[in-house]
Amino acid sequence: MDPLFDAVPGKAYYAISFRDIPETYILGGRCILCRHVGPVDRHRIELRHGAGEQLRYVGRHLRCLACGNTVRNHFTVVGCYLTRLLT
Ligand SMILES: [Zn+2]
Repeated sequence: MDPLFDAVPGKAYYAISFRDIPETYILGGRCILCRHVGPVDRHRIELRHGAGEQLRYVGRHLRCLACGNTVRNHFTVVGCYLTRLLT
């Protein structure tokens, strides 16, 4: 199961927007072809597309850094910001 669904319980992928995902989660992208997973700069994405934008729309703009694929890449969660827990 994708860790994205732990961050946003009870929502299907197509219904999730950036606003639904708590700030403490590090977002990443997953390539549907080669399964490469890498972190993305969610702050930059949210500035550009808006925090209310749904992941499925913004995912169209993702490009895989491993194989160059630009088709049907998905967002996922790659980790948590530990600094938020320490302060
Ligand atoms: Zn790839």
